[in-house]
Amino acid sequence: MHFLRAPAPDVRGRVYGVLMVDSVEIPPTRIHRPTSASEVARIIRQAAEEGVPLTVVSGGHGPWSHAPADGIRLELGELAGIEVDGTRVRVGGGAVWGEVAAALAPHGLALSSGDTATVGVGGLTLGGGIGWMVRAWGLAVDQLVGAQVVTASGDVVETTAAQHPELFWALRGGGGNFGVVTRFDFEAHRLPGIAFAELAVGEDAAAMLRAARELMRDAPRELTVTYMDVPPMDPNAPAGARLSAVWAGPEPDRLGAALAPLAALEGVQTEISEPAYRDILMEMPVPEGDEAPAPPGFIAANGLLRDLDDELVGRVVAFRREFPASVVFLRSLGGAFADVPEEETAFPARDAAWFVMVAAIDIPGMLDDDSRAKAAADAQRIVGGRLAEYSNFVDAERPETVAGMYAEASYARLRDVKRQWDPQNLFRRNHNIAV
Ligand SMILES: Cc1cc2nc3c(=O)[nH]c(=O)nc-3n(C[C@H](O)[C@H](O)[C@H](O)COP(=O)(O)OP(=O)(O)OC[C@H]3O[C@@H](n4cnc5c(N)ncnc54)[C@H](O)[C@@H]3O)c2cc1C
Repeated sequence: MHFLRAPAPDVRGRVYGVLMVDSVEIPPTRIHRPTSASEVARIIRQAAEEGVPLTVVSGGHGPWSHAPADGIRLELGELAGIEVDGTRVRVGGGAVWGEVAAALAPHGLALSSGDTATVGVGGLTLGGGIGWMVRAWGLAVDQLVGAQVVTASGDVVETTAAQHPELFWALRGGGGNFGVVTRFDFEAHRLPGIAFAELAVGEDAAAMLRAARELMRDAPRELTVTYMDVPPMDPNAPAGARLSAVWAGPEPDRLGAALAPLAALEGVQTEISEPAYRDILMEMPVPEGDEAPAPPGFIAANGLLRDLDDELVGRVVAFRREFPASVVFLRSLGGAFADVPEEETAFPARDAAWFVMVAAIDIPGMLDDDSRAKAAADAQRIVGGRLAEYSNFVDAERPETVAGMYAEASYARLRDVKRQWDPQNLFRRNHNIAV
């Protein structure tokens, strides 16, 4: 939800997102834009020697990229090269997903990423990555076959399922805790066809959500749907309730028939197209300088859920109605996402069928203390039965909740990996795994 954020330099002493920044004088950040892994290694050694905080920035959409910080800021944007070799794709640690989709298109290839072109490969992948094709091909991280990592000791390490396997396991969901990834190696998919549908939801949002739930119980894995209801706040994000559907695979013209039960609901308007994959990725650049609006807070909760029952559906719809400046997202899972055994990656809850995120936007003057408290309680009730929280949509530092982003056994394993590769916790400006 970067479109409501300001960049770091001018937010000192103000509420930033849900991070409270106090007004003490903060020494200026030293910004480095390395062009090679060895330069990254030199900067990491320098941060370790000086004992100063290190902020790692890829696409810049995560909370730490925006919060004011002293110490060293490592911006990876110069490391954005993309090499395609058959179906193997090597992506620089600072690339964004729109660049990847554009580079893959001439080869008839694609990777399951998120839904936004301007989001970084780094942050999205290391947290997991739920996107338009999650049911067809799994998470972004499920396509990762190797990585080059610069560790806290400044070593440049190659990792795969066979080489430093625990590190490779931890990178797939454990965030930026273990080192700076200077290169991601993915196995891409041939994309025989793609179709995209937008269904403008009529008056009865709950009926749409219930119908989507039923449809997705045994839908083909080529089909992934996302429900989204947002207020008018960004020209790139149309307002109102809508369900977007992607068909990724052969016979994209099957999308219309697959969605027939949803299209038949009263008041629903359906538009189907067969765009290029790159064109369905949204553009939401990180606002900079004068473009940046004042940053409000978010009262948010998310969860990976086994199912959507009618009560939960009712609560989501009521939340959106009660808080006019609020957003709700629901993304279908299952399919290839569920094929991956839980212990194969650090990402939790492979038995989740839906991801749900709700957030009331705390625009100054709109909410009083009672309504803020109610929004927080309602949001928590919606995700109360969650299997786990998804780290990539936790837009604030909340160290006490990091364990809840993982299965218990995975969190213990992540701590072991952290102790091995970053015992001094140099990489701590992230959802920090306790050493
Ligand atoms: C508009 C928008 C749309 C989104 N859509 C989706 C979506 O469809 N699916 C989804 O799953 N998520 C989505 N997200 C959430 C997104 O995955 C997270 O915000 C993610 O952290 C953004 O990654 P980034 O590289 O852009 O951000 P950054 O702020 O650059 O990175 C976030 C953190 O990741 C770590 N990091 C980043 N790159 C590296 C690296 N190369 N090596 C080591 N550590 C690194 C650092 O700890 C950093 O603080 C969306 C977010 C926004 C704002």
